[in-house]
Amino acid sequence: MNKLEEIQNVCLKRGIIFPTAEIYPTISGFFDYGFIGTLLKRKLIDYWREFFIKPLDMIEIDGSIILPERVFMASGHVKNFTDPVTQCKKCKSIFRADHLIEDGIKKFVEGKTAKELTEIIKKNKIRCPKCKGELSDVKLYNLMIKTEISPMGRQVGYLRPETAQNIFTDFQRIYRTSRAKLPFGIATVGRSFRNEISPRQFIIRLREFNQCEIEMFFDPENPRCDIKKINDKSIILLTRDAQKRKEGAKKMKIGDLLKKETIPNPWLAYFLVKEFEFYKSLGIPEHALRFRHMLPEETPHYSAGNFDLEIKFDFGWKEVVGNAYRSDHDLKNHMKNSGCDLSVMTDAGKKIIPHVVEPSFGIERTVAGILLYTFRREKERGWNWFKFPSKIAPYIAGIYPLINKEKLPETAKEIYKTLKNDFDVFYDDRGSIGKRYARADEIGTLFGITIDGQTLKDNTVTIRNRDTTKQTRVSIKDIRNVLKNNGI
Ligand code: AMP
Repeated sequence: MNKLEEIQNVCLKRGIIFPTAEIYPTISGFFDYGFIGTLLKRKLIDYWREFFIKPLDMIEIDGSIILPERVFMASGHVKNFTDPVTQCKKCKSIFRADHLIEDGIKKFVEGKTAKELTEIIKKNKIRCPKCKGELSDVKLYNLMIKTEISPMGRQVGYLRPETAQNIFTDFQRIYRTSRAKLPFGIATVGRSFRNEISPRQFIIRLREFNQCEIEMFFDPENPRCDIKKINDKSIILLTRDAQKRKEGAKKMKIGDLLKKETIPNPWLAYFLVKEFEFYKSLGIPEHALRFRHMLPEETPHYSAGNFDLEIKFDFGWKEVVGNAYRSDHDLKNHMKNSGCDLSVMTDAGKKIIPHVVEPSFGIERTVAGILLYTFRREKERGWNWFKFPSKIAPYIAGIYPLINKEKLPETAKEIYKTLKNDFDVFYDDRGSIGKRYARADEIGTLFGITIDGQTLKDNTVTIRNRDTTKQTRVSIKDIRNVLKNNGI
């Protein structure tokens, strides 16, 4: 069992994340968050907003999940949002043709047509991995989930495959009503849906997932991005050259990458720097993080450069954030198809269609990365635990009466009541104190507040620190400060 599978088991056991509708035969690609997972996800999104949205005073929107077909005709998803599939003629299993080829003959086939993939399968005699049956010709399969709107089903709609389209379709109204001036960002957090052919690897490839997306709009002739603050910062980058030569990623200075035009735009550079800092602060070590400059064959024609932030999982590196310099492609297409004017006025009084840089974060892949790298195995202290960073720890503290008598429960409940409106805390009086500490550690709780005999005498409690397991005596009136500052 690899570590991600081990963590999947812990998530099941603790009710953190588990398959949707699991009392029935489940369909793969759907997961629910339990009470710990829900808190973790909510705090992660709050932290993301604090980190990316607030510093740039971005505008946030919350759009519909079902959008009319015309939106996706304009965006190109109806025509192009496809994966190549092949079916076994014998056992009828369906596979992603590109994955099958890449796994089978270790050949990178991104950008190849269905016909070319069919030829590669035939030439290399690739057979069904399950029953060795013959494979069908490759067909393109659209990943969007289609639905019918109105009782007679006259209107076709799709569950959005990304949250970003709401930003483009709402652009005109947001721009007019917010009195925004370039450069400005519009951000949104919500659900996206993709009818993945083979959902797999726990919450890595899902059919329903959460995204946090930003569209940063700017004038390409005057981006007005303050790069002085980031010029000296470094990121770990796998360049196109390194990929060709099969070399590894290297730490590089942003200023140099901008100078060499490897990164084609200062706003893109800004987000790469911020993302690198964000993921490190979530407990993911530098050696497990890298940006990959997408190869030309993986980059859409309208993009001036795409960079994926990848995390190293047991099964290999996986994209967690997609960063794309999408130029004016989306607004231009929506303008053409809707007939609405989506241009804006620059400070210089020029009418332009702004360019856009898009960082697109996947919540579930981020959660998987956090779970993987903050997980500590039991050999250290006799039980498994999560070293969640304080910003996203589901619970800040557990509150425990040492024994269930002598007024200790009453005092402990009183402390719990005074804290629960301001902090995520829980009350636990079941089992030995050691067992309660263990249960709290298993869900990454930062502190354990124990009420004992001495509390009744001098109004002090012990506070146990999750990471050091050290206990310190603190006055009841100082508990809030400890929790607020996340330290003793
Ligand atoms: P993309 O638009 O494909 O670049 O996706 C943006 C981000 O959404 C990715 O970096 C992932 O973190 C996340 N994502 C995309 N597809 C899936 C999926 N099937 N399951 C879970 N997360 C996904």
